[in-house]
Formats: sequence, C-alpha cells, structure tokens
Amino acid sequence: MREPFRNEPFSDFTKTDVIHEFMAALSKVDAALGQEYMLKIGPDHMETKQKRKSINPSQISQVVGVVSQADTEHAHRAILAASAAFEEWKRVEPHARARLLYKAAANLRRRRHEFSAWLVYEAGKSWAEADADTAEAIDFMEFYGREMERLSETHPLVPFPGEHNELVYLPLGVGIVIPPWNFPLAIMAGMTMAAVVAGNTVVLKPASATAVVAAKFVELLEDAGLPDGVVNYLPGAGSEIGDFLVDHTLTRFVCFTGSREVGLRINERASARLPDQKWIKRVIAEMGGKDTIIVDEDGDLALAAEAITASAFGYAGQKCSACSRAVVHENVYDEVIDKVVALTKALKLGHAEDPSTVVGPVIDERAYSNILKYVEIGRKEGVLMLGGGKGSQTGYYIEPTIFKDVAPYAQIAQEEIFGPVLAFIKAANFDAALDIANNTEYGLTGAVISRNRAHIEQAREAFHVGNLYFNRKCTGAMVGVHPFGGFNMSGTDSKAGGRDYLLLFTQPKVLSERF
Ligand code: NAP
Ligand code: MG
Repeated sequence: MREPFRNEPFSDFTKTDVIHEFMAALSKVDAALGQEYMLKIGPDHMETKQKRKSINPSQISQVVGVVSQADTEHAHRAILAASAAFEEWKRVEPHARARLLYKAAANLRRRRHEFSAWLVYEAGKSWAEADADTAEAIDFMEFYGREMERLSETHPLVPFPGEHNELVYLPLGVGIVIPPWNFPLAIMAGMTMAAVVAGNTVVLKPASATAVVAAKFVELLEDAGLPDGVVNYLPGAGSEIGDFLVDHTLTRFVCFTGSREVGLRINERASARLPDQKWIKRVIAEMGGKDTIIVDEDGDLALAAEAITASAFGYAGQKCSACSRAVVHENVYDEVIDKVVALTKALKLGHAEDPSTVVGPVIDERAYSNILKYVEIGRKEGVLMLGGGKGSQTGYYIEPTIFKDVAPYAQIAQEEIFGPVLAFIKAANFDAALDIANNTEYGLTGAVISRNRAHIEQAREAFHVGNLYFNRKCTGAMVGVHPFGGFNMSGTDSKAGGRDYLLLFTQPKVLSERF
C-alpha cells in the first residue's frame, strides 16, 4: 500500500544545522553560476546561436546561467518529438507513470536545498519562500502520482444486464506547458508532471526569467529515468515562439499560468481550427488576481494586520494570490493601517541570499519600472503611508509601499500590480466591503477577518473568488489541502493540487461489451 499523501514539511530555519545545510547549498550553487544550458528535444541536447542571460535580480551584475533560445524551427521539432514519444508513453501503465513521479519527488527531496538555492539566485526568493516553492513541487508530484493511480481504478457505472461496461481515462496527446516565473519550480513542475502522469507528452516552454530552474528540473527527470521526448525543454521568448506552439496542428492542449493578457491571447488562438487539425484544443489558463482582505469591525485586528502584511509583501507581492487591497471597516480603519505600517517597517528589504531578508527584489527591469509607475499613480490616487522608494541600485529593489484612502475604482485598486504595493480602502459597513471586494474583473483569492458569524456566512456565499479564506492570510495554498484556481479573468479555475485537476489532462472512454 502506498502511504496517503502528506504535505512536505517546510524547513526549520531556526535550527543551526538547517541554516548550515542551506548555506552549503547556496555556496554549491554559487560556484555553478554562469553555466550554459541547452534545449532538449527528444534525446538531443541542442545549443542554439541565440542565447539569453538569466540574471540574479538581487545582484544584477551576476549571471545565473546562459540559456540557448529556441526559434520556431526548434519549436516544430520539439512538437514532433513529443508527438512521436506519445505513441509509446500513452501505453505505459498508469502505475508505472506514477512511480516515475515518486522517484523524481524522492530525488528532489534529497536535493531540496540545492533547488531552493537556485530559486534564491534566479527568482530572488527569500530562503523561506524558496523552500516553500521546492516543497510544493515535491507535493505536486506525490499528489498527482496518487491521483493517476486513483483514476486508473475501476469507476462505478450503473449495472446493465448482459453487458460489461467500463470507463477508462485516456491521455490527450501533445501538450504545451507555459509556466510563469513566480513559482518557477512548483507551478512549472506541477503543470508538466500532471500532464505527464496522465500519459501525455509535453513541450515545456519555461518562463524566460527562470529558465535555469526549469533546466535543472529537466535534468532531474532524466536522472529519474523519464524516457526521451516525454518532456522536451524549449526555452525561448514567449513573444517569439508562443504563438507558433499554440497554433501548431499537433498541439492537443495548452496548459498556461501567467498574465491575463497572454492567457486570453492563447485562449483565442487555440480556438481557431486549422484545416488539417483533428481536435478541439483544450486550454487550461490560470491568470492574474487583484486579491482583497476584508477586515470587519469586530475582527481580531492583530491577526488582520499579520495576515495583510504577510499576504501583501511575501515574495515582494509577486504572487497571484497576493493581497493588494485591504478593505477595512471605517470603525477600525486607522488602527489596522497603523498596525500594518508598524509590521511592514520591520520587514527587511535586501538580497535574497541573506537569511534575514524578508522582502527581496522584484524579478526584472520590466517589472521594476512597471511597479514604480504604479507607485507614482498611487501618489495621485491615495495617501502614501510607507515606502514609495527604490532600494539599493545593485538589484531590482522596491520598498514595501502602502497607500491609504484609495477609491474602490482607482487604478491601483483595479489593476494587477504584481509588486510590493498595498492599497487601503475604507468601507462604511460589511455589505459595502463585500461589494468592493467583488468589484474587479478578477476572482482568485480573498480573505475575511471577522468574529461575526452572520458576516462570515454572508461572505462564504457572496465573496466570489476561487479560494476564500477566513481569519487567515490569502496566500500559501497547499497542495491537496487548498486546491487552487480562480474565477472570471483569473482563469479557468482548474484547481491545481485538487482531485479535479488530472481530469483536465485526460479524456474518458467508455467500453461496452455484450457477452
Ligand atoms: P506572462 O508574462 O503572461 O508569462 C507567462 C508565460 O507566458 C511565460 O512563460 C512567457 O514567456 C509566456 N508567454 C509570453 N508571451 C506569450 C505568447 N504570446 N504566447 C505564449 N506564451 C507566452 O506572466 P508572468 O509575468 O510570467 O507571470 C505573472 C502573472 O502570472 C501574473 O499575472 C500572475 O497573477 C499570474 N499567475 C497566476 C497564477 C494562478 O494560479 N492563477 C499563478 C502564478 C502566477 P516569456 O517569459 O518568454 O515572456
Ligand atoms: Mg512576463
């Protein structure tokens, strides 16, 4: 019997031996920075003329790796390789596919700090954020392995005299997996391995900012014995090869997590049928958020402040689940703001490698200037309470920034900023707070801090988001515990890490035989 799924525990960075192990991993990775990474198509590792440097956002003079960039010709070859491998892989028994995930998870568990160290260098994640990302990647593989085993069992059908009826889940074919850079290990591995364990083959186009972490993961899969062609590693600019991959006639599905803009583009293009295309392409698209924490007048205000601060500024606000709006009852508005400002002042902004850092840099030049643009807009739309400036120029540092008295339909209250910027909005009563919470085009996460049972029940029904939390933060969803995905312009609500997820990568076939 396989043990039931359990979440991988987080590392305890208060323990000296754990600190030393992590430092050793950072030194090991530091010594490996700047290496070259090639495409992997079928069995071939391929260097290309065009290369992209992946840099450390904490220290922008430091090159994490130099990554070969695919063009559309490589993309075509990768799809053909995946298509050829599908003919074999789809016949591999589901339990054997699951065992491959357990093996990869075991290898990742053994190399856990090393992978987290790559996340520190390439994504600018603090130790704790990097550790959680790696733990989640392990969780996805353990969870989806078990899910595939469950799906391969006999499924109950209504008995019919004289017939033997059976329903089996078949894979779809070649999938294009397009992850974001903000969970460069967990989301990338989760989407890829869900597709793979269900029997599909994949072209993995990693996010350009974090292509090295993805290359390391593909190496890990090779070590675990994944056959060539099942996962093809195809780094390259989304703007150059994305459309080609999505449009290709052999593409059966696209599994995307990223911005609303790109997700909508993929959805639209994938819906067009080419003359020689046999199927309707399936699109799984998880997109942006503009997530709200509501604080009720009788809520625990210390808890509210902790929840808001952690959700707004963890990983510098670069989470789709990040709290970027705190909607607070007018009777406790000033007190909550004071508490959040005090907690936020204590968060250390700095190098992700430094164990005392809580808020690291933002990912790249584009994010940096975009977030600073929103800070300027915020100065016009609200009252600046904290931050608003740049940090050290050695990296992409932005101070945790808090605005108050922001109107519900202000730009910084509506648009996803994806950085360390928090807007406080005052609400006259709980009904008004709920209306404000629901007033964006997104619907990903939200939280309510309240002791009022009737209000909690009201919000359970009326607060329209895919992941709604009560009396806790709105980030930190755990695999299996909080299946994750959002409504409206936040995406297709695919609920990653839940029991419905693998169904998206399969097609059920019913077999009826009369004897
Ligand atoms: P992004 O700019 O949309 O990029 C996501 C991926 O799409 C990257 O691999 C990117 O490649 C690729 N891409 C770009 N243009 C493309 C095109 N025309 N066709 C196909 N692929 C294309 O998003 P991001 O900046 O990486 O990530 C941040 C966003 O992700 C935020 O909006 C956040 O809310 C969202 N997110 C959502 C969830 C969720 O579960 N709902 C989870 C995490 C993040 P390049 O890197 O080469 O541009
Ligand atoms: Mg981008």
